[in-house]
Amino acid sequence: MKNILPAVGLGGTPMLRLEASDAASLAREAFDGGIGLFHADSISAAERMAAGLSDVDRSEYKLMASVRSADELSDYLAAFATDHIDIALLATDGGFDPSGLEELKTIGRIGAIGLETRRLSDAVREAERGAFEVIAMPLNCLACDEELEAVSRIRACGVEIAALEPMAGGLWQSPVGAVAFLRSIGASPVFGVQYMWQLEQLLPTVKDVPALDDELWSEIHGERSRLAASYCRGCGECMPCPAGIDLPLAARMGQFIDSVEIEPLISADTERKMRLVGRCVGCGRCMEACRFHLPVRELIRANAERYREFLREHGGLE
Ligand code: SF4
Ligand code: SF4
Repeated sequence: MKNILPAVGLGGTPMLRLEASDAASLAREAFDGGIGLFHADSISAAERMAAGLSDVDRSEYKLMASVRSADELSDYLAAFATDHIDIALLATDGGFDPSGLEELKTIGRIGAIGLETRRLSDAVREAERGAFEVIAMPLNCLACDEELEAVSRIRACGVEIAALEPMAGGLWQSPVGAVAFLRSIGASPVFGVQYMWQLEQLLPTVKDVPALDDELWSEIHGERSRLAASYCRGCGECMPCPAGIDLPLAARMGQFIDSVEIEPLISADTERKMRLVGRCVGCGRCMEACRFHLPVRELIRANAERYREFLREHGGLE
């Protein structure tokens, strides 16, 4: 392994819900607490993080950006106010073309090229193809045997793993278990943090990685059996739905409600998509297709109910 990824990272998405100055303070507090990797999947998130890190020596932390094309990289360089991004994650499912990124790597604008994917089969195939140095994928204590097998295969190729959604999209409550488990399988968790109290819970585990002892294991197993059926990875393998439902959106709506910007969630388009959940004909196709054996119908219904409450709270269109 090249040790491209620091042990623990901070993701920028939930910061978009904060005032820019609060987001900058959070990023700075994270750096001071030992977090060495900052991941942005939008230009706004990059700007907010950069403001918090502006007076820190650039060699003391690493930047990771999710890019859809080589052209987008220059926007990230400007937003982060830097001359290089340590890890550029090609954020696309299918049709991978890292050629433009390779050129940027040659001239030192990129340190390493990674792939961000929600599909387990893509993650393993691309790692084994040798095209990427880092794979970023949803990974947390709810990982099933198939995901753990994938982790082993990816790592056997010398490819490092950034674990996105280390708190299972908000289902998991303990950063102690998350860090202990993910570090034990050789993955670097990238935490989305919105509140200072969340960061304060996380930071002690960064400086002093908790041991995965019997007590912690038994806690993790208990939580796994309680939560495993509720965690959708957003892979889309259950699509298409004959009723036209956007299943990865509907099955993860609760995660979005807890972490992403509110405006897109209360848009007419999102509301229209969520209304389609009521058209489920119960064919069961989604559940046959889901490799994680999720009860997709129940999951989308529960998320649609939560979404209705959310709309009412935020004066949405319903
Ligand atoms: S059971 Fe409902 S949600 Fe699943 S594929 Fe069939 S119509 Fe779509
Ligand atoms: S329900 Fe299953 S197959 Fe569909 S997106 Fe979620 S994890 Fe993937």
